[in-house]
Amino acid sequence: MRGLSVFLLLALLLGLFYNLSTLPLRKEIAVLASRVGQRIIVLDPGHGGFDGGARGLSGVEEEEIVLEVARYLARYLEGAGARVFLTRDEDEELAEDKVEDLDARIRLAEEVAADLFLSIHANSFPSPYEYGAQTFYCHNHSASEALAKEIQGALVEGIDVLGYNYREAQFAEYYILRKLPIPAVLIEVGFLSNPREEALLSQGAYQKRLAWCIFVGVVRHFSRTDLGEETGK
Ligand SMILES: [Zn+2]
Repeated sequence: MRGLSVFLLLALLLGLFYNLSTLPLRKEIAVLASRVGQRIIVLDPGHGGFDGGARGLSGVEEEEIVLEVARYLARYLEGAGARVFLTRDEDEELAEDKVEDLDARIRLAEEVAADLFLSIHANSFPSPYEYGAQTFYCHNHSASEALAKEIQGALVEGIDVLGYNYREAQFAEYYILRKLPIPAVLIEVGFLSNPREEALLSQGAYQKRLAWCIFVGVVRHFSRTDLGEETGK
């Protein structure tokens, strides 16, 4: 009976992910996705409301596209059995003051007893040539760096539309990461200051692909953590 339900779950996940991604990774992830089941994950689309974040030359706003990526990511994670909370689900700020806004996001993670916190942002730089997603971590938790590397690895592996993404997971003292007592990373999904990347970031298919890669990183993170726990006994 148990064997049959595991088989049915795998068949379901394989079917689900087959349609969602063209990456060769999908089989591996369908098999491992159950490791995400029952985890509590907070997704934090950056900015919102009075704070639109970065803005591309053609007017694409960071607050809009990071919310879309977070929504796609929530669907992948929930499909694998995780409980997902978004810090915001529309174009709104969480407090009138920027620091209070960030504190409210941190508080939500505490209130729901989250296992993982992923903050999603989009980058901007004076030069229009910079491109590529990049994941940041700080030393708030011993697992944050490894989580950042898994997600960055999956993003590099899964997305090379603008050329090879040479960016690596990087240490950064972001306020929101520093204050969290759980594994947490901040993902800059790309540069709105690069016109080609801005155009990609505004497309649903590209947002979905970004979400898929982040999902792959999270699945690998939990798979590795589980193995570590088992061998540590
Ligand atoms: Zn931002």
